[in-house]
Amino acid sequence: MIYRENINKFVRRITLAEKITAKDLYEIIYRIRDVMKENEKYLTDLDAAIGDADHGVNMVRGFNLATERLKDIDPNNTDVGTVLQTAGMAILETVGGAAGPLYGMWFTQMGMTAGNIKEIDKETLAKLLETGLETVKTTGGGTQVGDKTMVDALEPAVNALKEAVGNPNNSLVEALEKAVKAAEEGMKSTIPLIAKKGRASYLGERSKGHQDPGATSTYLILKTIYEYVKSK
Ligand code: ADP
Ligand code: MG
Repeated sequence: MIYRENINKFVRRITLAEKITAKDLYEIIYRIRDVMKENEKYLTDLDAAIGDADHGVNMVRGFNLATERLKDIDPNNTDVGTVLQTAGMAILETVGGAAGPLYGMWFTQMGMTAGNIKEIDKETLAKLLETGLETVKTTGGGTQVGDKTMVDALEPAVNALKEAVGNPNNSLVEALEKAVKAAEEGMKSTIPLIAKKGRASYLGERSKGHQDPGATSTYLILKTIYEYVKSK
């Protein structure tokens, strides 16, 4: 019985996708655009409570231009760095406020680190997301976990991913699943916090009791990547 379970697990593992190709990433940016559209009102409503009610609009605008720019690229003949930098630059170009530089730099930095590689394995994914996280923290002016921002979702996700990748028994999908779970918990952990960064920090105590919009969009982005890779 145990023997059969192990075989099944093994078969499942080798049939699971172990790499994210540049073409996958190209498709993933389109999916993220769709997910941001589906959640535009949700994100904007979250931002209405502790910000200026534009987070959903900002994310849709950014990923709309990202997909527009990607149309100039042949997905079958590109690399990881080009896809990520194209998306990042489009977000930087079109989104103002906090989210533009933060999300724009997140993707641009991952793209610069990736360079002309054609696919991402789980170790590379952990590395890219880690450099992205560092850039977000710097861009935010030294943002830390607990400041009630997107970092509260991204940092636990990166840590969970790194830990999962360190165990060779975890496939890419399994590692991503753990990262998404950590992001979800991190997103929810923002609810009782007092914001220390961004617009919500102007509210002080009144920012308590609301989930951070950026932590929510970050969770949605990571979940979209996970779901794409899982369904591949
Ligand atoms: P704006 O605040 O300019 O209206 P958005 O509403 O699009 O921009 O994005 C707000 C989100 O940006 C917040 O919910 C938070 O997660 C994130 N954010 C704001 N400031 C910072 C910062 N300094 N560091 C990290 N994330 C931040
Ligand atoms: Mg806002």
